[in-house]
Amino acid sequence: MAYQHILFAADFSDEALRIGERAKEIASQCGARLSFIHVIEDMNISLCGGYELLPVLPDVPDETLLQAAQQALGKIANRLEMENATQWVVSAPSTREGILEAARNHSVDLIVVGSHGRHGLALLLGSTANAVLHGAPCDVLAIRI
Ligand code: AMP
Repeated sequence: MAYQHILFAADFSDEALRIGERAKEIASQCGARLSFIHVIEDMNISLCGGYELLPVLPDVPDETLLQAAQQALGKIANRLEMENATQWVVSAPSTREGILEAARNHSVDLIVVGSHGRHGLALLLGSTANAVLHGAPCDVLAIRI
């Protein structure tokens, strides 16, 4: 079965474009729709042990930060010649949650992320790719970077 809706999770690292190119390639092979997402992790920090930090920063990301992220995501879409693709900048407690919620809400059947191919302790602690894989409602493709 060919994928119908592919979600490219974009950070703004040097590798983002290369991962996006793979996502675009697969979408074009499948005739699938390609959407972009960038997650801004909200700053509702709490500590274990019952202590809670008063929020120093608001839950809702600062408008400037939001606009900067939208611009950066738009730039990636332009460079991939995918300016008409849907682009979401969302705020969530974690990158994983933001990506998975979008995947659930928009019938995504493939999530594309980058993976650093970490091993050992770093793998145990979990990269974004590893985190997304656990609980994903669909397939996840980790592009090795
Ligand atoms: P990391 O584990 O943080 O090195 O990121 C691995 C991959 O997760 C990146 O290549 C992106 O595909 C995705 N990713 C990381 N941070 C974000 C973010 N804030 N929003 C969307 N995707 C992200």
